[in-house]
Amino acid sequence: MAGEAADSVGSAFATGQHQFDVAAEALGLDDDLRAVLREVKRELVVHFPVAFDDGSFALFTGFRVQHNIARGPAKGGLRYHPAMTVDDARALAMFMTWKAAVVDLPFGGAKGGVVCDPHQLSQAELERLTRRYATEIALLIGAEKDIPAPDLGTNAQVMAWLMDTLSMHAGYSVPAAVTGKPIDIGGSEGRVGATGRGLVTVTLMAMREHGLQARGATAAVQGYGQVGSHCAALLAEAGMRVVAVSDSRGGVRRGDGLDLAALDAHLRDGGRVSDFEAGERISNRELLELDVDVLVPAAMESQIHARNAEQVRARVIAEGANAPVTPSAEDHLEERGVLVVPDILANAGGLVVSYFEWVQDLQAFFWDAGEVDRRLESIMVRSYQRVRQIAEQQHVSLRAAAYRVAVAKVAGATRVRGIYP
Ligand code: NAD
Repeated sequence: MAGEAADSVGSAFATGQHQFDVAAEALGLDDDLRAVLREVKRELVVHFPVAFDDGSFALFTGFRVQHNIARGPAKGGLRYHPAMTVDDARALAMFMTWKAAVVDLPFGGAKGGVVCDPHQLSQAELERLTRRYATEIALLIGAEKDIPAPDLGTNAQVMAWLMDTLSMHAGYSVPAAVTGKPIDIGGSEGRVGATGRGLVTVTLMAMREHGLQARGATAAVQGYGQVGSHCAALLAEAGMRVVAVSDSRGGVRRGDGLDLAALDAHLRDGGRVSDFEAGERISNRELLELDVDVLVPAAMESQIHARNAEQVRARVIAEGANAPVTPSAEDHLEERGVLVVPDILANAGGLVVSYFEWVQDLQAFFWDAGEVDRRLESIMVRSYQRVRQIAEQQHVSLRAAAYRVAVAKVAGATRVRGIYP
């Protein structure tokens, strides 16, 4: 969450609080309720030793922060990153509260992680770090309390170790305490492509309302990873021409549309996006400035900022990453009539299928991929329509509307539960 979005008003959490304040003001929330919602509920900081393969050991720091649990158990990912801070965890936990509320899932928001570079650790070291971190935060975690999932630097294997550690403590398997697990231990069908699928569902709706037909429309995707690659494939399936994609080293462009199946084969063979030969090389900067109907920033935060917003020529921007468009850039884009489908709505598909995973684990009854995709689409359509309706009625952007929907739901739940004792 570093970068310009945060710089404009301070830390990442300060940015999140600012976005909340804007929605709270529009909703006319009372000051006492505002004070509750703009702060996190709980934060646990843990320091713990992990042994390396050579017998030495070092102290690591981890966090788990819960922002609000008025609407249900806390839900949010675990990030393993050298620059992770408790401030980031607070900001991302709050963000998860709003994301769950905007798609109307019965969850609150949480985030956690460990300050470490997972690429510098062996698999055995990563496993020991995960099991010790899981033990340290176990007092907060559980299917009815707080349910972690993967985020940057963590994956299905890390979730499997986490679930196994919690299960060893319990004395029986607790699959519903963790999502994003491998299918063999209670993971859900459809999880891997869920964020891309949800994103394409709302993007196609936004395009229609913006007077754009999918067939023949053009798209560029920054960040051809889990989100970006599924999104690109589904946009192409909908009849669009995906004219450019990129990874961290740069991108490739082809005006007639890229052959994504050939690109995937090239990546499976160890190639990079930027050395795919069936297209011309472009930089990430050039990709963002292409004259396309739809731009999907699906890599990192703060990619479209005050300095490049003027050059962005897309008609619709669908935020695959969290906060890829800074607030100041969004003001420029809005003035020029560019429609931004905001992150808390656009990339909520992964959270929705995490919710499905939790529901399936609790029931010990599993759905096929078709069922997962159908239910995901139905939630995304309903959520988009609700946000769109508020945006139209109140003459605000989709982001402002999404925040108003989300904050109103969490405020309502907090208010009706009352103040204990
Ligand atoms: P990923 O690691 O699978 O893919 C990220 C891609 O972005 C990679 O191709 C990487 O090379 C590329 N990239 C990194 N830095 C870049 C840069 N500066 N310029 C261009 N490309 C760059 O990650 P992912 O799971 O696809 O997540 C992508 C983004 O979406 C992240 O910001 C993540 O927080 C957000 N997100 C992911 C999910 C999910 O379900 N995976 C859900 C919500 C939000």
